[in-house]
Amino acid sequence: MFSRLMSPLPLAHWYVKQVVGEGDTAIDCTAGKGRDTLFLAQLVGRTGTVYSFDIQENALKDTERLLEEHAVEARIHCILSSHEYIDQFVPHDLDIAAVMFNLGYLPGSDHSITTHAESTILALDKALKLIRPGGVVTVVVYTGHPAGSKENCALVEFTADLNKEEYGILVADFLKVTDQSPRLFVFEK
Ligand code: SAM
Repeated sequence: MFSRLMSPLPLAHWYVKQVVGEGDTAIDCTAGKGRDTLFLAQLVGRTGTVYSFDIQENALKDTERLLEEHAVEARIHCILSSHEYIDQFVPHDLDIAAVMFNLGYLPGSDHSITTHAESTILALDKALKLIRPGGVVTVVVYTGHPAGSKENCALVEFTADLNKEEYGILVADFLKVTDQSPRLFVFEK
């Protein structure tokens, strides 16, 4: 219907593409089926590095399979851990270009295994500290399920308190599609 408007995910990719290049390091905080990890791996190229987190082993297996199918050359660290612990796995002195969050549950899998407001905000706070000046963090949140609705409220609160001199913040809503349309937050340091 709105073929000229990008939906939140391609729009998140567009912002990430502006700041990630060959040799960079990037983080996917929700590996899922691996599509965002693949996208980041293709951007950072042979000399770059991607860290990819998920709490489900199946998700990381799917991600590894997808990367193999696409013969990805970047260095990939698939990490079975909640993203709230990113700072324990990603060295603090790295120059992180971008961090992506695609919240919620793995499509076609157990919907009760989903991201939650408290850990999402902890992870986002750490991600914002890890990125380099000029780097971006993108967060796609699905407000149509109870955990997603709480995450959206927590994100709005967190964003209100953030230092606007340090971070540029964009919130993109796609109005009148459904009440449950996903929403995109973009943070630029
Ligand atoms: N980015 C994925 C892709 O491109 O296919 C889609 C991500 S899917 C919507 C959300 C994923 O977040 C699920 O695979 C789920 O297991 C994962 N997840 C849930 N809680 C998490 C947490 N605390 N830390 C990391 N991943 C989590």
